[in-house]
Amino acid sequence: MLPEDGIAPRRRFASRHRLFDAMHAATPILDALREHPEVIRCATTGSLRRWNDVVGDLDFLVSSKNPEPVLDYFASLPGVASVLARGETKASVVIESGLQANLRVVADIEFAPALAIFTGSREHTVVMRQRAIARGLRLNEHGLFRSTEETRDPSLRVDCRTEEEIFEQLGLDPVPPELREDRGEFAAAETGKIPRLLEWTDLKGSLHNHTDWSDGRNNPEDVARHAIELGLSYWAITDHSRASFQANGLSVDRVRQQLHHVADINRRLAEEGYDFKLLSGTEVDVLRDGLDFPDDVLSQLEVVVASLHDPAGDEAENTRRLIRAAENPHVHMIGHPSGRLLLEREAYKVDLDAVIDACAATGTWIELNASPWRLDLDWRLWRRARERGVKCALNCDAHRLEHTAFLRLGAGLARKGWLTRDDVVNTLPLPALREALAAKRARNSR
Ligand SMILES: [Zn+2]
Ligand SMILES: [Zn+2]
Repeated sequence: MLPEDGIAPRRRFASRHRLFDAMHAATPILDALREHPEVIRCATTGSLRRWNDVVGDLDFLVSSKNPEPVLDYFASLPGVASVLARGETKASVVIESGLQANLRVVADIEFAPALAIFTGSREHTVVMRQRAIARGLRLNEHGLFRSTEETRDPSLRVDCRTEEEIFEQLGLDPVPPELREDRGEFAAAETGKIPRLLEWTDLKGSLHNHTDWSDGRNNPEDVARHAIELGLSYWAITDHSRASFQANGLSVDRVRQQLHHVADINRRLAEEGYDFKLLSGTEVDVLRDGLDFPDDVLSQLEVVVASLHDPAGDEAENTRRLIRAAENPHVHMIGHPSGRLLLEREAYKVDLDAVIDACAATGTWIELNASPWRLDLDWRLWRRARERGVKCALNCDAHRLEHTAFLRLGAGLARKGWLTRDDVVNTLPLPALREALAAKRARNSR
């Protein structure tokens, strides 16, 4: 058996993974751990629990009186390809999808402090420890102790069963895991200013999605019926415009046909008694000399997403194009503003700060594209956008039915960006959303 310290150097399989893939891999492991009779409490920790867009290993924390059988069980779960290390309280395995998964088992009394220590970013955890010291306390993964020295002496333990109790001892409101990055959460938690963050169940639909009219898999009616099954109120169909020929972008004639088709589907759904609407729209390409559709086409569509798909090599040029798009009264939002594909393609050269300013000035929304490859606008920029009064549209950019699951992923990233329900337009019920869509056009009509 390896000593516990033997685990750290063996990181051959350490690499980076998109959050969605990591969650997909972690969920069955967490479910399995939860079922084990010797497991009292269990959770993920680290970048996964913080909803970082890209994560490293999967880290699990379990409390148990009897680590041995839990570690055996973990090392022999279905899907484990190899065991990298196995100690008395820790084990590391590689699962078939290539991710490394680490389990740490602690006594239940240590669960909350370990969870707090192993969840926060390094910077966040440093501040937590410093706050403890300033109160004559020691915080480490074993507990919170009445001591000025490093210790794990049980007689000095401040009993904290939950993370909330640890935050309270440190003079803080509870900080949601997504915010534990040392990016302002301490100032907010000291003064009762941690916002009530968006919940994914607040979302009523998605405003940027595709069908088999362009490069999506499913037809609009199947898309509508699937959204109804999920309990959503609306779903915008925003297929590509003609310049995106590689994505089977729609001609002006096809856009007009689709408009009628969507109206037919809505009529049928209403007759069947459903309180649900498909919204007709487009993801119009932002071209060098303007948008891919003229204003008289855009004005007939309920939802217009303007996206840059074919950027210039020049930052000023890309920035100018997106600002011009925001200034068009028919454009409701800028889609995936940076154009990045996580772990695949860098962001376009674009001055996002200037784009945010232009959106603030024109009342244009910015998309949080919840596709696992995009998660764009980046979570780090949302507070700035929000402070300038820019609203978020949280969209699946769905290309097939199962992409509706991205709503939940995107909501986690919105939370990480400190967004509340009021900051996200597609939490609005349909009548209020329609008013907001119309308001953008009225405000800037020329
Ligand atoms: Zn796009
Ligand atoms: Zn799209």
